[in-house]
Amino acid sequence: MNSEIAKNLLLVGPPGAGKGTQAALLCEELSLERIDTGSLIRAAIKEGSPLGIQAKDYVSKGQLVPDELIIGLILDVLQQVKDKGSKFLLDGFPRNLVQAEALASALEEKDLLLDKVIAISVDEGKLVERITGRRICTNKACNAVYHTVFSPSKDGDLCEKCGSATYQRDDDKEELVTARLNTYNRETQPLLTYYQQKGILLNIDGNKAPSEVFKDIKAALK
Ligand code: ADP
Ligand code: AMP
Repeated sequence: MNSEIAKNLLLVGPPGAGKGTQAALLCEELSLERIDTGSLIRAAIKEGSPLGIQAKDYVSKGQLVPDELIIGLILDVLQQVKDKGSKFLLDGFPRNLVQAEALASALEEKDLLLDKVIAISVDEGKLVERITGRRICTNKACNAVYHTVFSPSKDGDLCEKCGSATYQRDDDKEELVTARLNTYNRETQPLLTYYQQKGILLNIDGNKAPSEVFKDIKAALK
């Protein structure tokens, strides 16, 4: 582990900003446990679990799932990470101020600290093409993320890492992108001021190539 910069982290940014891409790189290099609420919710929907059944309609409209559904789930996962003695990387939670306050209380109660919040910004025009071109490996254990233009799989529609099929998320289709960006601007963006006031916000320009963004994040964490 690169212990100099291994910390409890949160990634914030609009859909398509590159949070998942950077999360994979950071977790690999810093041995962090990733807590990715979007993937947890999609898995619950696929399984048809009670959470999935309740979440489905919200996700398909580009809205946030109600706080009471997501907060309990994430706090349980945080406890598991703490029990393992690992550091965590939150990706997709919190998504509004209510969730941020719930996280702050839970961390205090568990004697944990959120060290840094990495805010990735990308020009809005670029977000649309990033989201609509995203393809994901169907193998949950692999979860590789591709882009049809910017980082296509060498094996076409198959994942170059594990050979499984790749797919487009239903909510990545163009007609839903505006709703998701509006939800981000209205509900999630206020978190930037919230964490800036706490003195832990790092602003990162996500318009560059993934490797450049990663370099900038690591430099900011030092
Ligand atoms: P998020 O998790 O913030 O929604 P992702 O990491 O899944 O975003 O990235 C969205 C899409 O954009 C993916 O298809 C990914 O391959 C691509 N992508 C991510 N980072 C970059 C980048 N810096 N430049 C170009 N494309 C990128
Ligand atoms: P993502 O994979 O982060 O783009 O999330 C996909 C969808 O899952 C979002 O559009 C929301 O509907 C839902 N979601 C993910 N995280 C949260 C959260 N913390 N609170 C509420 N809804 C969420």
